[in-house]
Amino acid sequence: MLMTEAPGPIERAADRRELPVEAAPGIARSDTPAVAGANRSLYAERVKIYPKEAHGRFRTAKWIVMAVTLGIYYLLPWLRWDRGPHLPDQAVLLDLPSRRFYFFFIEIWPQEFYYITGLLVLAALALFLVTSLAGRVWCGYTCPQTVWTDLMIAVERFWQGDRNARLRLDKDPWSLETVWRKSATHLSWLAIAIATGGAWVFYFADAPTLARQLLTFEAPATAYLFVGLFTASTYVLGGIAREQVCTYMCPWPRIQGAMFDRDSLLISYRTWRGEPRGPHKSGQSWEGRGDCIDCRQCVAVCPAGIDIRDGPQLECIQCALCIDACDDIMDKVGRPRGLIAYDTVRNLDAAGTHTEPISLLRPRVVLYAAAMLIVGLIMLTALVLRPDLDVSVLHDRNPLYVKLSDGGVRNGYTIKLLNKLYQPRSFSIEQTGLPGASLSVIGHDQESRPVVTVSPDQLQALRLYVTLDKNAVAALPDDDTGFAFVITDIDNGTSVEHTATFRSPEKAHEREHEHEDED
Ligand code: SF4
Ligand code: SF4
Repeated sequence: MLMTEAPGPIERAADRRELPVEAAPGIARSDTPAVAGANRSLYAERVKIYPKEAHGRFRTAKWIVMAVTLGIYYLLPWLRWDRGPHLPDQAVLLDLPSRRFYFFFIEIWPQEFYYITGLLVLAALALFLVTSLAGRVWCGYTCPQTVWTDLMIAVERFWQGDRNARLRLDKDPWSLETVWRKSATHLSWLAIAIATGGAWVFYFADAPTLARQLLTFEAPATAYLFVGLFTASTYVLGGIAREQVCTYMCPWPRIQGAMFDRDSLLISYRTWRGEPRGPHKSGQSWEGRGDCIDCRQCVAVCPAGIDIRDGPQLECIQCALCIDACDDIMDKVGRPRGLIAYDTVRNLDAAGTHTEPISLLRPRVVLYAAAMLIVGLIMLTALVLRPDLDVSVLHDRNPLYVKLSDGGVRNGYTIKLLNKLYQPRSFSIEQTGLPGASLSVIGHDQESRPVVTVSPDQLQALRLYVTLDKNAVAALPDDDTGFAFVITDIDNGTSVEHTATFRSPEKAHEREHEHEDED
């Protein structure tokens, strides 16, 4: 006996016909009902799914993806990255109090949030591209809901056994064994959920410090609040709701159809090869019948509880576990693998008469790839060319200018210098375009060329006056004269110019006088 699954009641009407216990010699027929059958109603009460463990290359790929993605999520906040003595040494940190996002050697300031927007646009385009090529592989392998649900099911299987044991546990009256197995499952889920919520808050503060504070109950209330929120959502969505999230809560299954075409690789049952299906008896010829022995193992392993033989369905997350289950069966009955496989509609329509080549260079694929390339290049260029000094200048609004007792005019400005490097830098401030102007920075000694020092990775705001004497004001071409502040890094001599305007009352008055004389 290769499979040990015991027969039970088959719920779907189509399956109530008398069928042998074995689908083929040594292969038990699973009694798993498809919870979302082809003739589904608009409302259906939830039928609990007990996915059976699958073995095969896609299951192995999923274990690897799970280990990598969970490993990254849980361990990333603990990775250190030296940025010098004045800055956090956490490799990935969303520093909300300082309004800074650290990602290894990249630091994003609030005014550079367009990088995050660009990343989100890139992620969306990548999702469109992958979906048009190979269906919902994101859902099947890397979506957090899939990964955590998979983990919760693995834990459940560890404490309660595989599908039949779990079914029995739920069907039998409560016993001491039921209590301890269920308790162990839920406690393990809770531990995973707490670890998930804990890891999340570590992305927003120094992880070792916050971990210590959380354990000694000295952490901020918001940290406990978010650990609680994420614990609850992980426990409920991953442990309890599972496939219901993918089917009813997530909008992606409804949108994804727009990205498919006849050349998208989707998990498909090759009807032309499998039908007519039915149990296969020992020594029976395969002539005139399909390769599907109706063992329903593809349904038994499906975490969405569907029968892929009914055709493509909204609930299918394309996890490919049904491929593993069916390949295993095909090996056992001596038929070629691939009765369920990643295949295109174009190839399915060929019904085995010939093989349609997979076409990768389709208009939509090229379009998504080109859009990704353009956005990626723009982001990369912006990142490489981004300045290590940001300057902003704000002219005083009230008063616009001050007329001095000696006939001169003074304008006030607020200059902000943002030093993006991890070392202190000194900058001299000069102006060009206003002959005879003098500069003075409030709080600094009066000098012709003020020098200010800005701490590493800090923004420094300065109040600065530009003054013109009476003669210089008279020589101005207009009452609104453009000029530029020149900010020079003292150490390396690089300069940044920032345009500004000098306001003066004289020209306006002069023009008024001229008009009066003409009149
Ligand atoms: S498709 Fe494969 S796994 Fe599914 S019932 Fe047929 S033979 Fe069994
Ligand atoms: S039908 Fe197959 S690919 Fe789709 S969710 Fe079920 S097991 Fe995964």
